[in-house]
Amino acid sequence: MKKSFLTFAAVLMSSTVAFADGHMPQKSNEWYKNAQTALKERMAVQPITKRAKNVIILIADGNGVGTNYATRVYQGQTMGKLGEEHVLAHENFPHLGLVKTYNVNAQTPDSAGTGTAMHSGVKTKAGVIGVDESLNRGDCSQVEGAKVATIAELLTKQGKSVGVISTARLTHATPASAYAHSADRNFEDNSKLPEGCTQKDIATQLMDAMKAGTVDVAFGGGRRHFIPKAMKDQEGKSGKRTDDKNLIKELEAAGARYVWNEESFKALDLKSDKPIIGLFESSHMKYEHDRAGEPSLAQMTEAAIKALQGNEKGFFLSIEAGRVDHANHDGNAHRVVTDGIAFAQAVAKAADLTSPEDTLIIVTADHEHAIAFNGYCGRGNPITGICMGIDKNGVKYSDKPQTGKDGKPYTVIGYLNGAGSVLREDMNWVGARGDITMEQATDPDYTQQALIPRSSETHSGEDVAVYARGPWAHLLNGTIEQNYIFNVMMHAANAK
Ligand SMILES: [Zn+2]
Repeated sequence: MKKSFLTFAAVLMSSTVAFADGHMPQKSNEWYKNAQTALKERMAVQPITKRAKNVIILIADGNGVGTNYATRVYQGQTMGKLGEEHVLAHENFPHLGLVKTYNVNAQTPDSAGTGTAMHSGVKTKAGVIGVDESLNRGDCSQVEGAKVATIAELLTKQGKSVGVISTARLTHATPASAYAHSADRNFEDNSKLPEGCTQKDIATQLMDAMKAGTVDVAFGGGRRHFIPKAMKDQEGKSGKRTDDKNLIKELEAAGARYVWNEESFKALDLKSDKPIIGLFESSHMKYEHDRAGEPSLAQMTEAAIKALQGNEKGFFLSIEAGRVDHANHDGNAHRVVTDGIAFAQAVAKAADLTSPEDTLIIVTADHEHAIAFNGYCGRGNPITGICMGIDKNGVKYSDKPQTGKDGKPYTVIGYLNGAGSVLREDMNWVGARGDITMEQATDPDYTQQALIPRSSETHSGEDVAVYARGPWAHLLNGTIEQNYIFNVMMHAANAK
């Protein structure tokens, strides 16, 4: 017994002796070396505890952790990388947290409730803007009693300038939550207000905010809510207002400058401090994939920052990539990731034009979607394509598609519900999947496979990330409630 134990111990010792002096063969491995570099960078990060002169929040609507992952891989692949290793602009920021996005009455949130949480610091009901949860959605009579102050209103009182940007309509839920108070997100113009409703429509509230100096720069879509029904805009589209008011004319009369296409946008004098309203579409601005004759989100971000930087007391700027959400609703992954890239480019632009010493930049989403990712796909697999196998002898994906039990390939990205449902009405909702090729799946107009049939894919209640850089950015870590983001912005702007 004793002898065999000693033999065993000797074997054990000899097997560990190679590493006894701390020798690590992996020290020459690139993965190890990169992680050592990352460790040193992390250890050098110091919290910045000065007052934030400027606060910028960038919200990609519907860009949860899953959607953001798709954009990361896609942008990497467009740059010739395999993709998974790529780092988006905001993923370089030193601070990060996870955000709980539910509304007071909804496990699956909507953008009105989530926008109010971020811009006013309170969770509220789904579908309402700039009001607390005491209000019953749609009841105009309760607005006055339920109003909460927006960060735009609060920081304007401190002398800061304010900008609001969205690729959706400027009267849409997320941008509206920066400046408006409404019993319903759909009250975008007067024609949607119920009989006897005493609150002002959202477009009128934006006009009033610009006249009062609460909003100084606004870029986005939604022209139709600012002009009368009987009138056609520069692109031949009719307005929606039934009160005959032309809010664009009223704003111009009050001294604001109006731009409506890329040409007039580029001609803006950004040194002038006269308010600017840019309305580049009748409804939402175009998807990045289809964009022509309109500025990009990064171009709008640059122009707004340059215009707002004229105020020595600083500025607050809310920027929304509104259409990542819409492409997810359509189940169209190509437009999700191309608008996702446009968002990351806007983040990069904001970071380039400001200093972490005086500007807090927060990058987040309002909610996630019912998006999911299939496996097991090999490395570098086109993220909008079908799932190819793993090459056990190499790195890049194999030439053999993964298949389901039905013998058919499937896409990497899928949705739990949506227009691409495999359950078919013409077959009495029995499932039927066709064959699909990489070429078909990566077509920009392809609708990704989904399970439950719905004309519009839904949001989900899953967490989103918040990335931050600049003064007090380190307060954004851990798992937080969404309304906490407002408190961090206000703290940073008011720190002694
Ligand atoms: Zn949505």
